[in-house]
Amino acid sequence: MPQRPFTMLGRQDITFIGVSADHTGVTGSNTENDAVDQTQSTRMCMGSHTNLYLSYCLTLNGGKGKSMERSLSIIKPDGVSKRLVGEVIRIFEDVGFRIAAMKMKKLSREEAQGFYYVHRERPFFGELVEFMISGPVVLMVLEGEDVIMRNREIMGATDPAEAAEGTIRKRWADSKQNNIVHGSDGPESAMFEINYFFSGIEIF
Ligand code: GDP
Repeated sequence: MPQRPFTMLGRQDITFIGVSADHTGVTGSNTENDAVDQTQSTRMCMGSHTNLYLSYCLTLNGGKGKSMERSLSIIKPDGVSKRLVGEVIRIFEDVGFRIAAMKMKKLSREEAQGFYYVHRERPFFGELVEFMISGPVVLMVLEGEDVIMRNREIMGATDPAEAAEGTIRKRWADSKQNNIVHGSDGPESAMFEINYFFSGIEIF
């Protein structure tokens, strides 16, 4: 089955989420391109529209129907300060995830607030933002079959007290907030989160 190029999408199918272009590297000019390769299609994944997601999957899978996915992983400031970067990457590679992109970054307050925008009304939002900007984080794009849910299993429950034995959070997290890692919780959030931190040319 041939790849479905993004140019087959109508312009009305593409909905950009309100995050600044500085974070995403996404520009509307992508819709003008005739030949859209995987790198460009990844950049296009800023859109929230289902058609855009389906096209993303088809492009990523080469239309083969496997549930090949990408997920954003963050080793949070506590994971970095506890010198767990190597351990966590070892776990991901041992289970067969491919690291498609990676960088270390100290988030600005605005970047952390934007990333956790869905939690803005929660009582812990301010504390969570302070934690996320307290030191550098390691950002990664993980790729693999069913990587989103598999990564969630490997991470364990948000609260380490409830996490299964052997999971990253059970082994190393100190609290519900300081829980070592972040992982996208679904395909649409993965698209948003990957494009929040990575431009297409940074994903291999
Ligand atoms: P996740 O998907 O397992 O990371 O969990 P959520 O999306 O529900 O929450 C996002 C992040 O907010 C978590 O990973 C924690 O770092 C933090 N968090 C969640 N619940 C609490 C809470 O009750 N108190 C505090 N201080 N932080 C929390």
